[in-house]
Amino acid sequence: MNKKISLSGIQPSGRPHIGNYFGMMKQLISHQEEFDVYALIVDYHAMKSVRNPAEMKENIINVVLDYLALGLDSKKVTFFKQSDVSEHTELCWIFDTITTMPYLMRAHAFKDAQAKNKEIDVGTFNYPVLMAADILLYNPDIIPVGADQKQHVEISRNIAEKFNNTFGETFKLPEAMIMKEMAVIPGTDGRKMSKSYNNTIPLFAEYEEIKKCVMSIVTDSGGGIPQNVFAIHKLFRNENELKKIYEEKAGKYKELKEMLIEDLEKFIAPLRERRKEFAKDIPKALAVLREGGEKAKKVASKKMDEIREKIGVKVY
Ligand code: ADP
Repeated sequence: MNKKISLSGIQPSGRPHIGNYFGMMKQLISHQEEFDVYALIVDYHAMKSVRNPAEMKENIINVVLDYLALGLDSKKVTFFKQSDVSEHTELCWIFDTITTMPYLMRAHAFKDAQAKNKEIDVGTFNYPVLMAADILLYNPDIIPVGADQKQHVEISRNIAEKFNNTFGETFKLPEAMIMKEMAVIPGTDGRKMSKSYNNTIPLFAEYEEIKKCVMSIVTDSGGGIPQNVFAIHKLFRNENELKKIYEEKAGKYKELKEMLIEDLEKFIAPLRERRKEFAKDIPKALAVLREGGEKAKKVASKKMDEIREKIGVKVY
């Protein structure tokens, strides 16, 4: 029997952080036994914010090393980067032609950018369409993501339906899989943790960096309980046990933060060691990504052939 397919992506727009881990990477890795997994590094998406080639390269390598250190098994997972499979941008164009501007104007990312009065580039506006192509090329069943991506998965489903209605049944409609407790991991400033907000705790931070990040957590206290510290801390300990500790130590922010530093270190230290091993041979780590790209290309090019047939451009 065919396994179900789980697919998700991460932008190489900075170092992966614990929000990425608990929101998405952890789920995706845990799926590798039960599902056919596609793990994407969506580098063309990251171009929205990374315009320095050396930085882009470094970011891609960081994501590869992070995933390998987390236990991604490249024999079980198709692990690749978007730019290695040109079918993604090709399909994006086809989807562009059946997607309206008013519809995309309702996307949160666009509305946020508009609210900030930013000069919005076409890539930012079109980002959900490229994401639909990333997803739909591989016929996945589930998309593990954080809550911020819920709407984008909805958009992918709508685009798939529109295409199916116009050209005949071609795409499966994927379901977002959002873990309730992990839907929005807060950053050090209380907003959603995000590479673009400068409020992250990197997943493989060194001890001194962990200290710095935790000490910078904004302590908005309700009854002496620093909510932002607690929200991050509960990822690493039983919530009831932690509540008691926070009540006992109400108002003792420094002590609570020090405890979080130690818990983070306990969690990160073994991962950091594994990562250092992989970092000793970067060409080998990148070969894994290249092979994954070749595997993905085969699947994507077969699907594109079917799509070209459906839209009528395949005349020989
Ligand atoms: P970022 O917002 O840091 O740039 P990405 O856009 O690369 O992260 O997101 C990669 C995955 O991580 C997505 O599935 C996204 O939903 C998830 N994710 C990102 N930040 C968080 C967060 N703070 N809490 C939960 N999930 C998150």
